[in-house]
Amino acid sequence: MNRKVIIIGSGPAGLTAATYAARANLKPLVFEGAQPGGQLTITTDVENYPGFPDGIMGPDLMDKFRDQAKRFGAECHFKHVTKVDFGSHPFKVWVADETYLSDSIIIATGATARLLGLESEKELMGHGVSACATCDGFFFKDKKVFVVGGGDSAMEEANFLTKFASDVQIIHRRDELRASKIMQDRVINNPKVSIQWNTTLENIEGSIDDGVSAVVLRDTISGDVRMEKCDGVFLAIGHTPNTELFDNFLDLDNKKYICTKNNSTKTSLSGIFACGDVQDSIYRQAITAAGSGCMAAMDAEKYLESIESS
Ligand code: NAP
Repeated sequence: MNRKVIIIGSGPAGLTAATYAARANLKPLVFEGAQPGGQLTITTDVENYPGFPDGIMGPDLMDKFRDQAKRFGAECHFKHVTKVDFGSHPFKVWVADETYLSDSIIIATGATARLLGLESEKELMGHGVSACATCDGFFFKDKKVFVVGGGDSAMEEANFLTKFASDVQIIHRRDELRASKIMQDRVINNPKVSIQWNTTLENIEGSIDDGVSAVVLRDTISGDVRMEKCDGVFLAIGHTPNTELFDNFLDLDNKKYICTKNNSTKTSLSGIFACGDVQDSIYRQAITAAGSGCMAAMDAEKYLESIESS
């Protein structure tokens, strides 16, 4: 069966594209991927999504997105795309050994949390090391934890962790935060959070059985190395776009984000559209992702009309 549009990804971008494509009667098929609902499903309160003046929990918001898309006939499958071939039309998408064909594709695969690349970080992930305070904060009641990073994510994670941990210390490699002023203020005014400036995380001590016991820190100015006891480490150092599947087919920028043409979601290949964090390294908000999802569905609709009339 040849589909009109397949949407890969199910965060705010993918599910908004699904709602618009479904309402345009394009009968979209959505492959939700490894993290259905996207990054908001590992967030707690979303306070800045318009229309929810009292805030809403991330997973609840994404359930609403999905319900809305399904109400108009979008088919949402909890499946993970493993391969694509955009070399000929119709485009091909694989989920393991199942093949799907489509006249157009909307890519909304988002981005994934970045890690430092330490051996100990990999070994102790899930045993005291985490990239998601919302998922794992609960395990650190009355404990001391470190958060690595100086952006909005690090501030958000640090604040959130004070609901559980008694001592939250941010490790930042510079003497200035990248985070927005409001997020910085929240951290600075939170008595449970402190910041270690000009500091990098060199190693994490601990074991799979007993969890994290300490971190090795380096002062970037003096070069001095010190060890500090702690119970957990949270990484909040940004994200990498999920574009490995598309590398051979589409133009990507130097950070591997999909390049889209000005004021549109068109990629370098006609009939393939990209929306949300997979093509946006700047704004990266749920609302901007949703907006670009809407654009992608409208761009796909126009493209489908053009190939039908030619
Ligand atoms: P980000 O803004 O790219 O910040 C990443 C932070 O990690 C930076 O401070 C960076 O240090 C540090 N970092 C990166 N690689 C590192 C390494 N190898 N070692 C040590 N430190 C490293 O990423 P983000 O905080 O995830 O935010 C991404 C976007 O989402 C932003 O646009 C942000 O505004 C948005 N966001 C918004 C909210 C909100 O409004 N509620 C919440 C979360 C995220 P340098 O500063 O030295 O580069």
